[in-house]
Amino acid sequence: MRSRAQYLREMGLTPWTLITDARVIARQQTDLVSSELESPGEVALSDWTSLQQQVGNCMRCSLHETRKTTVFGEGDPKADWLLVGEAPGAEEDRQGLPFVGRAGQLLNRMLFSVDLSRDEVFVANVLKCRPPDNRDPFGEEVNACESFLHRQVESIQPKIILAMGRFAAQALLRTDQAIGQLRGRVHRYPAYDIPLVVTYHPAYLLRSPQAKAKAWEDLILALAEFKSVPGSENI
Ligand code: SF4
Repeated sequence: MRSRAQYLREMGLTPWTLITDARVIARQQTDLVSSELESPGEVALSDWTSLQQQVGNCMRCSLHETRKTTVFGEGDPKADWLLVGEAPGAEEDRQGLPFVGRAGQLLNRMLFSVDLSRDEVFVANVLKCRPPDNRDPFGEEVNACESFLHRQVESIQPKIILAMGRFAAQALLRTDQAIGQLRGRVHRYPAYDIPLVVTYHPAYLLRSPQAKAKAWEDLILALAEFKSVPGSENI
């Protein structure tokens, strides 16, 4: 089995000891009003299985016409960590699972570097269906789909959320700020006051390996915040 140091090297980073003291990382909290979460077409409160069925049968936006399958998400439905990306890609669309390609492999290595595995977290996307040709999601598609994600957050009640990429960050935080402005500080997910850290999408890191060091800083920030949650110190 490969060591954490090997995984860090694969991320293009020099291995070093984890620093979990949040004081070394600038923190700034952003408070949003819970009412900002309200959006048209709210999903009725339902149990997890019912929510999966609603997503599987959804025709709220035109993406249902081109998808092969919906991608609800994967992992522990009671996970402490919720990771959120943008939308399924071609392979995810085929398999019905999130982050299964090269970006998924990098995500696994990122998680391993902070002693986490995929089955310990829950991974989801803002959009549950693939935009054709991997184009950027349209605003109306995000508006139609995001309440599924909000209900997933409501059900999972994670202790930390990692928003991966601009679309996930903007959808979760209800902002149009650029990812560079959102990184490096701890936000709060509205309604449930859950700490949220923004980082780059693994697919972007594959294209821009020079950003991996910043992604590592984001992971350390998220880990420090998670450890500061009462009851999580020794996890
Ligand atoms: S992207 Fe979301 S809203 Fe659109 S059809 Fe798929 S599940 Fe429904």
